[in-house]
Amino acid sequence: MRSLVVASKNPGKAHEIATVLSSLHDWKVESLPEGIPDIDETGTTFVENAVLKAEHYSRSIEGLCVADDSGLIVDALGGRPGIYSARYAPTDDARNQRLLEELERIPPGRRDARFVCALALARKGRSIWTVEERVEGQIAPALAGEFGFGYDPLFWVPEFEQTTGQLKPEIKNQISHRGVALRRLQEYLEAYLETRE
Ligand code: IMP
Repeated sequence: MRSLVVASKNPGKAHEIATVLSSLHDWKVESLPEGIPDIDETGTTFVENAVLKAEHYSRSIEGLCVADDSGLIVDALGGRPGIYSARYAPTDDARNQRLLEELERIPPGRRDARFVCALALARKGRSIWTVEERVEGQIAPALAGEFGFGYDPLFWVPEFEQTTGQLKPEIKNQISHRGVALRRLQEYLEAYLETRE
């Protein structure tokens, strides 16, 4: 059994990652041990920040470490909040409120947005693999849904005519930026074992 540590202190993300990776064979998926100091996210892209986190935490653990850096890109805001999605306001509620206010005068046809997820895998302080995936949608006019976390109540997915906050977690994980990226990670990890057995 190989060990994979999920380097996320965001409970919503960590839960989604552990759920999708639970179907991995021969890998023990673990959470980050307590007490490891955080690292500043000083990168200029999602991938750079994911690599910073994966390399940092992998120095304090055995085995492989995966980190996620993700966020919301809104076209009408010139791409904001982007890599600053977690820092857009102090709480999820305040972030969603700010987004609604900033888009108040933007009509339905001009509210295109996407969630982006970068994953990085590292071992002993060195990144060994990265991926970036996205899911396209729009910013809804009002909050809807109790599932998920973060901006989910405002992220409208046209195909389902629901927000990701309304989609059942198993459906969100099938179509989301993170779900798609995690399936790429699964493929990589399965191949990783084959080359090392
Ligand atoms: P990070 O921890 O710097 O990667 O912050 C990610 C930010 O993007 C957080 O504020 C989340 O609320 C938001 N975010 C990322 N993925 C999702 C998602 O799947 N649903 C809702 N919000 C998300």
